[in-house]
Amino acid sequence: MTERYDYIVVGGGSSGCVAAARLVKGAGARVLLLEAGHSHRHPLLDMPPGIFKMINGSKYMRYHQTAPQEHLDGRVHDIPQANVLGGGSSVNAQVYMRGRPSDYDEWHDILRGDNDYPGWRWADVLPHFRGMEGNHRLCDDRHGADGPLLVSDPGHINDYSRWFVQAVQALGEPFNHDFNGPAQRGVGFYQFMNRSGKRSSAAYAFIAPLADNPNLTVRLNASVRRIEIEGGAATGVTYRDAEGAERRAFADSEVIVAAGALVTPQLLMLSGIGPADQLRTHGIPVIADLPGIGENLVDHPEVPIIAIANGPHGYYRQGVGWRMLRNGLQFKLFGTGPITSAGVEAGAFVNPADPNAEPSIQAFCVPIVYLDRDTLGLVEDAYGMTITTVVVKPKSRGFVRLRSPDPGDMPLVSPNLLKDPADARAMIEGQRFFLRAFETSPLRERIGRVAIPDPGDLSDEALMRHCRRFVKTNYHPSGTCRMGAPGDPLAVLDSKLRVRGVENLRVCDLSAMPNINAGNTNAPAMMMGSRCAEFALGYDVK
Ligand SMILES: Cc1cc2nc3c(=O)[nH]c(=O)nc-3n(C[C@H](O)[C@H](O)[C@H](O)COP(=O)(O)OP(=O)(O)OC[C@H]3O[C@@H](n4cnc5c(N)ncnc54)[C@H](O)[C@@H]3O)c2cc1C
Repeated sequence: MTERYDYIVVGGGSSGCVAAARLVKGAGARVLLLEAGHSHRHPLLDMPPGIFKMINGSKYMRYHQTAPQEHLDGRVHDIPQANVLGGGSSVNAQVYMRGRPSDYDEWHDILRGDNDYPGWRWADVLPHFRGMEGNHRLCDDRHGADGPLLVSDPGHINDYSRWFVQAVQALGEPFNHDFNGPAQRGVGFYQFMNRSGKRSSAAYAFIAPLADNPNLTVRLNASVRRIEIEGGAATGVTYRDAEGAERRAFADSEVIVAAGALVTPQLLMLSGIGPADQLRTHGIPVIADLPGIGENLVDHPEVPIIAIANGPHGYYRQGVGWRMLRNGLQFKLFGTGPITSAGVEAGAFVNPADPNAEPSIQAFCVPIVYLDRDTLGLVEDAYGMTITTVVVKPKSRGFVRLRSPDPGDMPLVSPNLLKDPADARAMIEGQRFFLRAFETSPLRERIGRVAIPDPGDLSDEALMRHCRRFVKTNYHPSGTCRMGAPGDPLAVLDSKLRVRGVENLRVCDLSAMPNINAGNTNAPAMMMGSRCAEFALGYDVK
C-alpha cells in the first residue's frame, strides 16, 4: 500500500513534534511523523530526576562517540542524544531557557539579504516562544501563561541551591528572578518545563493532544534511511519500520527534516545532498553539492567543579534504598519533595572578565557529586555538590561527516571543543569565578574541600589541564546545516529553512542555527519547529 501525506516530518524530537502539530492544527494537513526512537511514556522519563538514571546507559538515548579530540589531549567523549518521541525534551534536564535577545538579533545580521527574508530578530521569534508557553508564575509581554508547554519554578529546592544563590550574590552578582527576562545576568533559580513533578515534553505538550486527530500519523521505531528526491524535489522518504521492513512514504507538499544536529546532516548526505567530494568518496551520487552540510558543528562546552560536603548536605543517595522509598511516598501522597526537582535548581549567568558586558558563562548548581565516565573513580562518591560551568558563546567549530554510506552506522562527530583559545580563556575565568563561590559564605561553611580542580594550583596552566581533561558536551550540538544569506558559500538553508538547490525540503532542528544561543537549547528548537510549520504553510506569527 502506498503511504501518501501532505508533509512528512523526519524525527519526532523537540522541533519535529512542534512542526508536525502546527501543520495539523494550523491547516488540517495530513502529516506523517517518523520517529526512530521509542514511546515517551515511561515513569523515569516523566519524573524530573529520572534523567540521572537514564543518561549513562539507556535505550532512550543514542550515544555518539566523538573522534579523538586534538584539543583535549586526544580524549574521546560521548554526546548522548535522545532516541524517543519528544527527542531531547523527553530526556533533558527541563531547564527552560530561550537565550537572549542579542542571539536572535545576531541571526538577523547574518541572515538578512534574502528576497524572501522573514525576520529572525528577537521581536520576530518572541511571539513563538510566548505563544507556546504556559508559565505558572509569569505572564507579561515576554511570557505566556496559556500555551501547551508547561513551565514552572522548581518543585523542591535543596539547601545547597540556596547557599549557592546566596554566595554568588555575596560575590556581587544580582539576584535574577527570570533568566528569560530583560537581563540574563545574575544568579537565581531556573524555571523548568514541567508542572507538579511531571515533564512537559514536546510529546506531551504538542503530540498527545492530537492523539485522536486522523490527520496525524505517528510511527515509532521508524528510522528514516534516505530522503527520496526526483527531478530536484523531495518526494518522500525510505524508512525502516518497527518490524525491520523497508517502506516508502510520499509527501505531496514537503519533507521536513528534524533528526537533530548530528543525524540530520548524515541523512542529507546519505540522500545525495552535501559536500560533493565527501559523497563521491562514499560512492553516493551527488544531487546537490552543499559544502556546508556537516560543517560548523557548535556545542556548549561544560566543565565541572566538584566539592565534598562537610555534612549531610545535598541529594546524595536520595535515589536509592530507603530514601528512594520515602521520596517516592512523599511524591505519591503529596506531590512534593526531591522527586519534583530535576536535580538542578539554581544557576547563574556571569561575565568574569567584564561584569557589565553580556554573560560569557552559564553555571548550573547540582547538589550532588556528579560522577560521569571522566570523574568516576577519581572523585569519591559522597555528600557534596558540583558547579558546572558552560561557555555560552563558544567560537570553536567542529564537524559531522559520514563514516560510511550505511544508514545504520553513526556519523563521525568531532565537536572540537576548546579549539579556539577564546573558549579556553572564558572557561578558565569561569572556573576561577565559581571557585570563589566555595570560599564565600554561606557556602564556605558547608564545604569540606574542593575535589577538582586542585585548589592548591589555580594557575592558567593547571586550570587549562583541568578543562582539557574534563570538558564535555552540555548536550547542545547545533549548526551543522545552518541558515545563511545569499552568497554565503557554506549556507545550507535559506532564511525560511529551505534546503538550497532542492525543492520541497526543509530542516527545522538545531542544525539550522546560524549561531548557538546563549543558554539551553530546547525552547529555541521548539521555536524553530513552530516557525518552520508556518513558513511551510505560507504565513508566520508576528
Ligand atoms: C541529556 C540532555 C539534557 C539536556 N538538558 C536540557 C535542558 O535542561 N534544557 C534545555 O533547554 N535543553 C536541554 N537539552 C538540549 C535540548 O533538549 C535539545 O537541544 C533539543 O531537544 C534539540 O531538539 P532537536 O529537535 O534539534 O533534536 P532532538 O530533540 O534530538 O530530536 C531529534 C529526533 O530525531 C530522531 N531521529 C534521529 N534519527 C532519526 C532517523 N533516522 N529517523 C527518524 N527519526 C530520527 C531522534 O530519535 C529524536 O527524537 C538537553 C539534551 C540532552 C540530551
